[in-house]
Amino acid sequence: MLRQYELVERVKTYDPDADEDLLNRAYVFSVKAHGSQLRASGDPYFSHPIEVAGILTDLKLDDKTIATAILHDTIEDTVATQGEIERLFGPDVGRLVDGVTKLSKIETQTESERQAENLRKFLLAMSSDIRVLLVKLADRLHNMRTLHHIAREDKRLRIARETMDIYAPLAERIGMYGFMEEMQELAFQHLEPDASQMISSRMARLRETTGANVHRITGALESLLRAKGLAASVTGREKRPYSIWRKMAARQMSFEQLSDVMAFRVIVDDETDCYRALGIVHGRWPMVPGRFKDFISTPKPNGYRSLHTSVLLGGEQARIEVQIRTRLMHEEAEYGLAAHWAYKQGNDGAPAREAYPWLEDLLEVLQDAASPEELLENARLAMFQDQVFVFTPKGELYQLPGDSTPVDFAYAVHSDLGDSCVGAKVNGRVVPLRTRLVNGDQVEILKGKVKAPDPAWEAFVASAKARAAIRRHVRNKRREELLAMGAKLLDAVAARLRVALTDEIMGPALGRLKLHDRQALELAMAENRLSDDQVSEALVPGATPTKRPRTGKAKAAAALSIEGLTSGVGFLLCDHCRPVPGDRIVGVRHSDAPIAVHIIDCDHLADEDGEWMDVKWGADSAGAAARIAVVLHNQPGSLASLAASIAAHNANIVGLQLKHRDREFHTDIFDIEVESTSHLATILGALRQVKAVVSAERVRA
Ligand code: MN
Repeated sequence: MLRQYELVERVKTYDPDADEDLLNRAYVFSVKAHGSQLRASGDPYFSHPIEVAGILTDLKLDDKTIATAILHDTIEDTVATQGEIERLFGPDVGRLVDGVTKLSKIETQTESERQAENLRKFLLAMSSDIRVLLVKLADRLHNMRTLHHIAREDKRLRIARETMDIYAPLAERIGMYGFMEEMQELAFQHLEPDASQMISSRMARLRETTGANVHRITGALESLLRAKGLAASVTGREKRPYSIWRKMAARQMSFEQLSDVMAFRVIVDDETDCYRALGIVHGRWPMVPGRFKDFISTPKPNGYRSLHTSVLLGGEQARIEVQIRTRLMHEEAEYGLAAHWAYKQGNDGAPAREAYPWLEDLLEVLQDAASPEELLENARLAMFQDQVFVFTPKGELYQLPGDSTPVDFAYAVHSDLGDSCVGAKVNGRVVPLRTRLVNGDQVEILKGKVKAPDPAWEAFVASAKARAAIRRHVRNKRREELLAMGAKLLDAVAARLRVALTDEIMGPALGRLKLHDRQALELAMAENRLSDDQVSEALVPGATPTKRPRTGKAKAAAALSIEGLTSGVGFLLCDHCRPVPGDRIVGVRHSDAPIAVHIIDCDHLADEDGEWMDVKWGADSAGAAARIAVVLHNQPGSLASLAASIAAHNANIVGLQLKHRDREFHTDIFDIEVESTSHLATILGALRQVKAVVSAERVRA
């Protein structure tokens, strides 16, 4: 275990201005807080946080991060409190330790791939400060190094699996390949002990039989490059069991078929030297076709840069892999963002912005930061800032767009759940459905019996999936209502004609109307694209007794009798005020047109230039069409219940305009044939009793 002064010294070597006092106080506090607690290894517990801090000094991290590492388990595992840490070590360290503690509380709930990916993203999103994540990864790395001390196999396996699925890929995501590889190798030993053993022993045998020797090849490479005037440092190693295992699995090969189990790394001064070194290596040994990759001219998406090739070593008939890179590329590859940060501190060269295109936003922040401290504090992982991660009651994790609500969550789980959602609990409390979810919320959806998403939801949902589902549902409901409406209109026409809507009648009628089925006809009637007369004519050609000609502003009303008009004199009812028997009316005589009949206070009377005449409804008036506007709650079946009520009062709907709906209400205009104003009043009264109806009024125009 690192002693106190050793740890401080290490930090001082790369940061002479580090706060020595802070580090000393953190060290003493942690040792005291963990007291006599022991690790599974039998070591005192405090050796763990000190070693974690040690790992982070390799990354040359700042004093606050090192202090955080030293204190990272105190809140979770000792009596120390968040307040205490903040008071003693300042708000920054307090916030960082709190961040690490929160990450540690997140337990893997399921092992499916999708869950693992979500959990990785969640951890990234929760790590609002990159240092929190670095401490967490170092913590996990040290736990993996000491995992063999844990006696319970199920616990060991769980931790190893979690490391393989969550933490190693996370390390990779932020470019920390050194961490990633070590975690994978350690996890592999626990997860696949037999395979791990088998590969290790076969490698030992290979070394004996081929005489291929890492040390010898390293020397050969180095002297070759030096002879050509290139200063390069070469390191070599045998590939590690897990990476061999993966290759065997990926290429379906046996161990014997794998020949390149050794890899060498050539580190040179600059990019030009990388290509020179490549030329020298290829000039000396034949390259393996198809294995050369230039990640310098085309870096990997995460910014990784290097030249990769494989060559055949003649005598041994062994293949070796060679990676060629500059020192900067190497540090970036090993320590990812952390290396980037170290360079930013001024140790060496400028950070290669273009090397991290995927962290564009983050780098923007980095470059605006005034000090290394501010830089790290601002180093938010911008790529997941517009996402929110929430849990089901069973602990499954879902990734949703930022600003998502319980409705978005419901639709993300299943569209049926979204459709039948009536309420939601967040963290156990009932909340309005428009509540914005935040990271880590646990969301439970309360289901209703029927699937009836509220069109009003569309105003606040954040996900495209929820929005599309709500729209689709509203559209379908709308169609159902129109069909119910159209069916009633069609039945009414058939009843007037006294025909049954058999296939023999319907078939030719649809043909005449150029419609392909009965539903299309009902829809056309409901949407007022076909008049009753057109439909009766199609059903029984020639049987339509009275064709009501549509003449501009007024309709003929031959079935009406109006006192004061000479029998046989034509008249038209005003199309604006739509008088019905019982209304006080006035006639206007024109020289070349039928007499126009208006309600006494019709606006259009002002425009009439003819001669006014007194008229009254005749005793045998049969009825006329009044226009009414009905405001309805936007709910399933409202239109059909309305139509039913009108029909129940012996009135015909002769025209219908469906106005655009808003989220809660819609207004529909009906023209209904009534006997009189009192008949109309009865119908309006009845309509107002319908549950879905907000208001029903007679209107003009
Ligand atoms: Mn720990």
